[in-house]
Order: sequence, then structure tokens, then C-alpha cells
Amino acid sequence: APVVIWFRRDLRVADQPTFLAAGQGARALALFVLDPRLLRPSGDARKWFLFGCLRALDESLGGRLLVVEGDPAQAVPLVADAAGAGEVHVAADFGPYGSSRDREVEQALAARGATLVRTGSPYAVAPGRVRSGDGGRYRVFTPFRRAWADHGWRAPARTDAGFLDWIDPATVRARPAPVPAGPDVVADLPEPGEAAARDRWRDFLDHGLSGYADGRDRPDRPGTSRMSVYLKYGCVHPRTLLADLAGDGSEGARSFRGELAWREFYADVLDQRPDSARRNYDPAFDGMATDGGRDAEVLFAAWREGRTGFPVVDAGMRQLLAEGWMHNRVRMITASFLVKDLHLPWWWGARHFMRRLVDGDLASNQHGWQWVAGSGTDAAPYFRVFNPVLQGERFDPEGNYVRTYVPELAGVPGRAVHQPWRLPEGPPGGYPAPVVDHQHERAVALERYEAVKAAR
Ligand code: FAD
Repeated sequence: APVVIWFRRDLRVADQPTFLAAGQGARALALFVLDPRLLRPSGDARKWFLFGCLRALDESLGGRLLVVEGDPAQAVPLVADAAGAGEVHVAADFGPYGSSRDREVEQALAARGATLVRTGSPYAVAPGRVRSGDGGRYRVFTPFRRAWADHGWRAPARTDAGFLDWIDPATVRARPAPVPAGPDVVADLPEPGEAAARDRWRDFLDHGLSGYADGRDRPDRPGTSRMSVYLKYGCVHPRTLLADLAGDGSEGARSFRGELAWREFYADVLDQRPDSARRNYDPAFDGMATDGGRDAEVLFAAWREGRTGFPVVDAGMRQLLAEGWMHNRVRMITASFLVKDLHLPWWWGARHFMRRLVDGDLASNQHGWQWVAGSGTDAAPYFRVFNPVLQGERFDPEGNYVRTYVPELAGVPGRAVHQPWRLPEGPPGGYPAPVVDHQHERAVALERYEAVKAAR
């Protein structure tokens, strides 16, 4: 009987275990469902990138990808019926929405005598597999990373072009409509798709990896891999990256594996505690006042638009708007500014990031935010409040990052760009004065955090 291969966060043909599970030689239908529940909260940049990935996948499949729009619990069984398929093959989804959606699809398929077959996941080690000696789950990163590395992962699946012949256009009765073009975006976005992911990765291996351990904290330099957008949509599987680094004991490779481990850790944490996508991981924080005061909405808008008057914060927020991506160090600085200088709830910022980031990933984003807010796993000590000026001077020492994204400050030379209010002539035309006094807000934040600590 024919089978359906339902693509989700695995928009590639190389290292594609669902092909192996479906069985070579079966007649197969390749499907993607545009799910309004996932599209609605996505900003235009992410939609543009997703549609580009779909077009690239369609091309790899010889124009045989069927794209339909609707609720998967209805659409998938309808397509399976039309194709006369008894099996729908997917990579397992461990997110709170994805796993409940899959249970619904599974039930709807079962009612028609068909099955949902899960093979693999978007992770090197699927959430729930890494366990401590007594079978428990990890709540802290470092022991997780050790156990994760000891657990190990499979070699990449060899699914090259030979597998594609059995994706049979005759299985689709009607020629599917072309993949939608997606919104027009002015943002400066990376090239979507599997081939672009491979090129980017090769380039990083050749030119980035050796300097990664030192360079990854510098937003003014192209020191990181920029693989997050490709990992988000599975244009490449992390197992492929790890296989390319196997046996490489260099500092760069070790450090890169460690960052991939964070991605896997946060997916595991979200699987343990699906509520942590919306709520404090540490409930002691539920009592903390985070109303931001009278001016909350005004301050929030200044933060979103990059008009806080703190150059490194504004540069980051504008990079997010311009490129759908922000450097990790600056994600930490801008997040800290929202929760500790503006006293706004982390989930306000997390929602904005999720909408705007092309790599927006619920597990990494919500837990990255909670880490900064101190309410998550591996909480940073509560008294650590990032000083945006010192962070800027340290990680963007010549000011090049700020000048790239804040044109009003383009004429201010060197590191002076981090304190434009100190320039003898004042901040250049149009650049705002700081919206808050950092030293004062720092003291306020410490009081709020002390209160949480005392209530424990
Ligand atoms: P590299 O430095 O090259 O890292 C390689 C890969 O390791 C990344 O592609 C990513 O998959 C993983 N990685 C690196 N750092 C982290 C981390 N701290 N947590 C989890 N995985 C990591 N990452 C996302 O993929 N999606 C998000 O929505 C997201 N939101 C974040 C929000 C906040 C507040 C913070 C502090 C971090 C967030 N991160 C998120 C993590 C990190 O900032 C990005 O993964 C990284 O900047 C992506 O760029 P890169 O691929 O060049 O990173």
C-alpha cells in the first residue's frame, strides 16, 4: 500500500530516517500541512523562510511535494485516504502543541484503519532518553550534557537521491498548487533550504570553527555558525553536524557540541515541564511583581523598536527587526534589560522574540528567557544584572556592532558609541536619551529579587 511522508521540522532529504522507516520501494506521497495555528504567531520573516525551505524541498523531490492548508487532524487523514495509504510517517514532535496535535492525528487515522509511525526527532537524542543512574530526568545542564554525550547518537541515515524515485506523482490525484510565495519581506534573511544549510555549515567548518570558542561571544564579528535557522526547520539534522565533528577534540568543536547540547537540554526540559513554556519554571517567581509600572507599554514599545537610548540594546533589537536573528550575547543583554531594567515580564519579551526570530524555537527561546530572568533552570545568580554599557564595551569594544545597526550613531567613533549621552555635543540627531537610569533600576531589580529569595 502507498505511504504518506508528512514533513514538519525536517525539511530535507539527506539523513531522513522516515524514508528508511517507510521502506524503500513503497509508493509514497510527500506532504506538508500549513497549519494556521503555527503560522498565525509567526512573523513575516519566518514565514518567508519557511516557504523558501518548502520550495527547496519541493525541488529536491522533483516538484512532488503536496502542500495543503488546514488543521492537520483533518487534513492528514483526508490526504491519507485519497492516497489509499495505510501509514503516515513522521519524525516525532516533542513540543507541547506538536505532541498533542500528533495524538489527535493518530486517533483520526486509527478511526480509518491507518497508523501514524514516528521515527527519529529533531534532536540527536530524543527528549526523555537521557536519564541519570536512577532513571530520573536532569534539571541542570552540566550533568545532562555529560550523560547526553555518553548516551551518544546514531550515525546519519544515508538517504540520498536514490530514495526519491519512489515518491510517486501518480499517488497524488490532482497536481498540487505551487508552494505559496510567502510574504514580501524587506529583511536581510539567509538563503532558505537544505543546500544553503549545507553550504553554510561547510563555510563554518572551513572558516569559523577554529575561532569559535573565543569568537562566539563577539556580536561585532561573524563568529558563530548561523545554523539555528536551519536547525529550526530541519534543513539539516544536528546528528549530521555532530558526525562531522566526531573525533575532533579541538576547543572549537568541544564548544560547538556544548551549544548543541543546550538545544537538546532545553527540549528535554520542555518535555518534562510543558507548562514552562508559559509559566515560571521556578514557581517561587510567581509572586514577583512584574507590572513595569505606569509606563510599561511605552517602555515596552521603546524596547521592541530599539529606542531605549542604550546603544547595544537598541542595536540588538534593530538587528532582530532587520535580520530576524540576533547574536546570542545580545539576546542575553536585551532580555536582561527588559526584565531587570524595565521590570517587565519575561514572557512579553519571549513573545516578541518568537514572532520575530526566524530561528524562533519554543524550547530554546522560553528557557533562554527564563535563564536570564532567573526563574529557569541553571538560573544565573539573581544579583547578576547586566550593565548595558559595560557589556557593550566588553563585547563590542570598537563599537562596530552598534554602528552597523544604529545609523544615528554611525558617526560616533570607537567605544564612545556606547555612551552617547556623554558626548560633549550630546547624542547625535534623533538618538534618544536613556529611557531609564540603569543604576537606579538595578537597585529596584535587586529588591524585587531579594523579596523572591526571602519568600522561598
Ligand atoms: P552558534 O553559536 O553557532 O550555536 C550553534 C547552535 O547551538 C545554534 O544554532 C543552536 O542550535 C544551539 N545553541 C547555541 N546557543 C544556544 C542556547 N543558549 N540555547 C539553546 N541552543 C543554543 N535559539 C534558538 O535556536 N531559537 C530561539 O528562539 C532562541 N531564543 C533565545 C532567546 C534568548 C533570550 C537567549 C538568551 C537565547 C536564545 N536562543 C535561541 C539561543 C541562541 O541565542 C541561538 O541559538 C544562537 O544565537 C543562534 O545563532 P547561531 O546558530 O549562530 O549559534
